[in-house]
Amino acid sequence: MRLLPKQLCMIAVSVALISSAQLSSAQAAPLVEPTLHIKPAASGAGRVALTLDACGGKTDTRILSALVDNKIPATIFVTGIWLKRNAEAVAIMRAHPELFELENHGGRHIPAVDTPQKIYGIRSAGSPEAVLAEVESGAAALAKTGEPAPKWFRGATAEYSPSAIAMIRKLGFKIAGFSINGDGGSLLGAKETARRIAAAKDGDVIISHVNQPTHAAGEGVVQGLLALKDKGMTFVRLDDADGTGNHGTTD
Ligand SMILES: [Zn+2]
Repeated sequence: MRLLPKQLCMIAVSVALISSAQLSSAQAAPLVEPTLHIKPAASGAGRVALTLDACGGKTDTRILSALVDNKIPATIFVTGIWLKRNAEAVAIMRAHPELFELENHGGRHIPAVDTPQKIYGIRSAGSPEAVLAEVESGAAALAKTGEPAPKWFRGATAEYSPSAIAMIRKLGFKIAGFSINGDGGSLLGAKETARRIAAAKDGDVIISHVNQPTHAAGEGVVQGLLALKDKGMTFVRLDDADGTGNHGTTD
């Protein structure tokens, strides 16, 4: 039988639909959001690790000044984009090496997920090559500032495909999860942010943001940290703590 061009077209469409459906079911390994805890303090009021993401945008000087004034150490996850636009803040961090550890948050703030999809509205890297480029360009941007080579990586959105985790570990980075979501992506109000951070217990790893100076959450970050300090809680950086994560992120 002779197929009309229109029929041929329909066949091509259904073949394409079948193969893309098969592909997505084969690739649909669920994403993971790993946790991270540090070894609890042997004695005293306990210790926590404060991690702050600098995804892009500007610097929340309310938080940066509070850390310097109160001598609270923190691990800052910076992207290549943020480093380029925030030289003044980088200089402050570099002037206080006893307080700030700078780690890798990727070159362009692209989720370390090696299949094409959107996470919280952000397009994933989409392939192993693109994950690799994101991780390596983030490390290269940090190296340019004269900082020590990063040992930890946290991808944009803090969600990963398991295969991307394996790849990043092979590059030599530990992956920084967290145990307390302090500011809900910087979208929470000041009160709720302060409440979450002040509730941190011995061994917790807190995540918040230091790149949203106009958000109310930043005020809550400061309040929560000061409440922990008042309780006698100690702050440690990831390099100084024994961190254990799940999903193969640290072992
Ligand atoms: Zn981020």
